[in-house]
Amino acid sequence: MKKVAIIGGGFSGTMAAVNLARLSNSPLCIQLINDKYPLGRGVAYGTKREEHLLNVAARNMSAVPDHANHFLDWLRTRVDYSDLPDPQLRETYVPRRIYGDYLRSILSTYMQPIDSHHPAEIQVIESEAVDIEFNFDGCAEITLKDGTTLEADRVLLATGNQPPSTLAEGAFSHAAYSPDPWGNWMEKIPDPQEDLIVLGTGLSMIDVFLTLSEMEWEGNMIAISHNGMIPQAHFRGIEYPDFLPEEPENLGLDNLVQLLEKHCRQLQRIGENPGIVVDRLRPHTQRIWQKFQLEEKQEFLKRYAARWNVIRHRIAQPIHQRITEAITEGRLRVVRGRITGLSAQDDKVCVSVQNKTGGEQILEGGLVINCTGPNCGFSDTSVPLFQNLLKRGLIRPDELDMGIDVGADFAVIDGEGNHSEFLFAIGPLMKGTLWETTAVPELRGQAMRVAQLLLDDVTMVTPGHDYRISVEEEHVIEYYI
Ligand SMILES: Cc1cc2nc3c(=O)[nH]c(=O)nc-3n(C[C@H](O)[C@H](O)[C@H](O)COP(=O)(O)OP(=O)(O)OC[C@H]3O[C@@H](n4cnc5c(N)ncnc54)[C@H](O)[C@@H]3O)c2cc1C
Repeated sequence: MKKVAIIGGGFSGTMAAVNLARLSNSPLCIQLINDKYPLGRGVAYGTKREEHLLNVAARNMSAVPDHANHFLDWLRTRVDYSDLPDPQLRETYVPRRIYGDYLRSILSTYMQPIDSHHPAEIQVIESEAVDIEFNFDGCAEITLKDGTTLEADRVLLATGNQPPSTLAEGAFSHAAYSPDPWGNWMEKIPDPQEDLIVLGTGLSMIDVFLTLSEMEWEGNMIAISHNGMIPQAHFRGIEYPDFLPEEPENLGLDNLVQLLEKHCRQLQRIGENPGIVVDRLRPHTQRIWQKFQLEEKQEFLKRYAARWNVIRHRIAQPIHQRITEAITEGRLRVVRGRITGLSAQDDKVCVSVQNKTGGEQILEGGLVINCTGPNCGFSDTSVPLFQNLLKRGLIRPDELDMGIDVGADFAVIDGEGNHSEFLFAIGPLMKGTLWETTAVPELRGQAMRVAQLLLDDVTMVTPGHDYRISVEEEHVIEYYI
């Protein structure tokens, strides 16, 4: 029986496994290798806390691109959502742990024993993959952390984001410092007389804030970031005329910025949210990014990415309101500046912050939590699997060093610039290649297209597809879930 190994069992790997299983019509063994975060849930949906909500409305969270209401239909089976009127259910921001339940329930449907309707089998291996070698006959040997090996015909990397960045402090370690927002910092919450400092002002900071509020902690929180911007709130946009040319990917960065700024100003003039402009661009973002020259990508990252991120990754309106209230009441202070170092001060941690004019301030926290997001420089990776793959020349960093270089058909590009026949990748690893490759609406399409590609490739049972067109445009796909 042919074997496909998937490394990473978060959203991307799980849904790739499910799509392989549901679309395969000949025997196939799918090995889903996962460690550290809960199977099916990954980092985002592994939280057990009720207050950690999705930041995308339920209507857009189907895990499968060929069944737009799949998540809504599943929610309807739960007693707590069964009676909600449809318009309200569609706009609900559901707790992320419930979304994790949804993913697990889909996975378990496809973990049933093989029968004539489902000739593919998903095997779960709970371990860390640390290396891959390919034999001359094209078979992959995956080494796990305990030294055991697995064989597979094709390997899909779905390992998610790189671990959180280590900032300027290198290997700083202290009882009052949590290097990871998903660690066990809740056991170390300080006395309310002491400040709690969060490094970063993005979505993970919001999670920390919500948890502290839920725990009725009465102290003050300080959140620090380079730009001092917090995520914006979702809003109901107006009907706004189409303003993008037929092929916006051919505009280039300067023309695109000019066009967007013109429409942002126009929207501001009529008292509307300029976020509409970012929403309109969304279906084209990956193509625009791929058409940019390297210098344009670098310029975008330097000048516009921070602004793009706060507009693009929004939060539910009521949560935004709680954050702004806390800022107004002084319970949450947002500090703008560059974090230049961390140091121990007895049982507290001091954070040095440099402002725009070079002035330095020291902030002292009874607990400091690093919420600055994943490490950006891929070539410095601390992950054993990627260190080994880089050493073997099986992968190479993308041109921006944000992830790995991957072709349009998800084939990984090796150290010599060749498209691999055996190694594939999806998800946040493709950030430098696609820019937008983080949220469910992008990942569900990738998880399905890569499954179709692997099935064509490994079993030769389905006709060829053009994997670059969006799945929504295809009408050939049968689904069982
Ligand atoms: C806090 C948070 C909230 C989010 N909320 C939303 C939302 O509301 N809506 C939305 O659309 N998107 C959201 N996202 C974005 C997106 O949905 C997630 O980032 C997505 O779940 C990524 O899934 P993934 O499988 O690619 O990566 P991950 O979830 O990171 O999963 C990767 C898995 O692979 C494992 N792994 C890695 N390396 C190895 C190895 N060598 N061997 C074995 N296992 C390995 C990891 O331990 C992990 O379990 C959110 C992201 C975060 C972080």
